Amino acid sequence: MTLGTQWAIDWTRACAAVIAEHRVELITLDRDIGDGDHGENMDRGFSAVTPKLDELSADAVPADVLKMVATTLISTVGGASGPLYGTAFLKASVAVGSEPELDPAAVVALLRAARDGIVLRGKAETGDKTMIDAWTPAVDAAVQAQVAGEDEAGVLAAAAAAAEHGAEATEPLVARKGRASYLGERAIGHRDPGAQSTALLLRAAATVAAGGSGNGS
Ligand SMILES: [Mg+2]
Repeated sequence: MTLGTQWAIDWTRACAAVIAEHRVELITLDRDIGDGDHGENMDRGFSAVTPKLDELSADAVPADVLKMVATTLISTVGGASGPLYGTAFLKASVAVGSEPELDPAAVVALLRAARDGIVLRGKAETGDKTMIDAWTPAVDAAVQAQVAGEDEAGVLAAAAAAAEHGAEATEPLVARKGRASYLGERAIGHRDPGAQSTALLLRAAATVAAGGSGNGS
């Protein structure tokens, strides 16, 4: 199965649904070690994204969907997460170019470009207790899966599982970036909300890919 525009559209809808569903969880995580706005911000952003899916042209490629998500998140999501996720989706859209369907290598390129964009924008490193701690294991696992010969859905499944482990692994960390860094050791025991939302978005990508709704065939 290849991943085309329908997959990108379905992933976007799934992102909106999963963020809405986990809104309170993300608010709570961010309230513990941040300013509590992450769930609200992400929900507002993806709620603004979904109506725009209907405005895509009939010949839209996956990059067009990713770019629309990027520009919408940048203009509607406050705090740090809007620019970070916006940059991620923007870099991802550039990485997949005008390809109508994404093969495993393109999926890896999408994830890597997203992660690199967040690093560039947020200047966080692995172990800083940020969303990078979900993104980088996801990229590494995606590369491994691609090398092992997994298909697109297999690459995304590996990425999602690694992101979930990465998000969980932020719990014992002291934060070195963002508001949580002011808490010092009091941040220990709390999961980073951005890492958690990353895990949710990547799981949504994998679930949609596994469901076979990616290319309308
Ligand atoms: Mg916040």
